[in-house]
Amino acid sequence: MKLNGLVFLILLLLISLFQSVSLWAAPEGFTVTVTDGYELFLAPAKPSAGQALVVVLRIIDESQLQKEVELQSMTFCQRKFQLEPIDGGWRGVAAVPLGTVAGTYELSINSQVGIELVLAVAVDSHDYGEQRLTVKKEMATPMRPENLKRIKQNRRDLEIAYGASAAQFLSGSEFVAPLTTESTSPFGTRRLLNGKPKSPHGGVDFKAAIGVSVGASARGRVVLAEELYYSGKIVIIDHGLSVFTLYMHLSEFECSLGDEVDAGQIIGKSGRSGRVTGPHLHWGVKIAGVFVDPLRFVDDSKHLLMIPWEVGDGKGKF
Ligand SMILES: [Zn+2]
Repeated sequence: MKLNGLVFLILLLLISLFQSVSLWAAPEGFTVTVTDGYELFLAPAKPSAGQALVVVLRIIDESQLQKEVELQSMTFCQRKFQLEPIDGGWRGVAAVPLGTVAGTYELSINSQVGIELVLAVAVDSHDYGEQRLTVKKEMATPMRPENLKRIKQNRRDLEIAYGASAAQFLSGSEFVAPLTTESTSPFGTRRLLNGKPKSPHGGVDFKAAIGVSVGASARGRVVLAEELYYSGKIVIIDHGLSVFTLYMHLSEFECSLGDEVDAGQIIGKSGRSGRVTGPHLHWGVKIAGVFVDPLRFVDDSKHLLMIPWEVGDGKGKF
């Protein structure tokens, strides 16, 4: 009995020592939680509405290793996100939808047999403000049958484009904004077009005259290069793990469907096609159906390139 108590105490000491070492080892921007035989790294610790959440996991419990668990996906804010096996664990990126109210939300990690673990994640709300715009009536609320038919077809094309994302994260670098000009309209604003409430602004607008070269934010594959009713000439790039970037209102395409593009490679020229009030570039980042603030993703994407438990010894980058 006495010996058991001592063993228990030593075990407790070892566990707490291990946990504190893990906490100490978490690189900047990550928080780490040890739960159910896993080490779960999150960045940022408290995401807000319209922001990405990078999740990296590793098994630290021998008995879990023996089970040969294959993690496959995660569920967060009622949406499903991909997980990719990496050296020693898994990584993925989730996102908090616009309009999410502050609170605690469950992050479920799913394996091939069901839910493997659940973690409570604190989420902040974020008010992006309101914007009133005036556009042509047929652009705000299309009525003509040929336009309605076209919009319906566009939706199907978009569904196909977003339907198949690579199972591996394709980018080897942090995401960069396609232009460095002044932003003329921020992400996330609630929009009133001709006085009627519409979807919030799903991206950020950059000042651009017609014909300015637009580069890809990161390496990926072109899954759409087409002229749509609202977006005008649009390019969508898949970066894997359901991370997509969108470039809208272009005047010219410089890529085609299926092209593999590198970070910074010119994919088109800015313009004023589709629903616009003037020439500009609309740039969006969509993660498994959720629009996130592209400018914040420029910063947050660096966490997708790190193996948190190897940062510091020179092996922390993919
Ligand atoms: Zn826009």
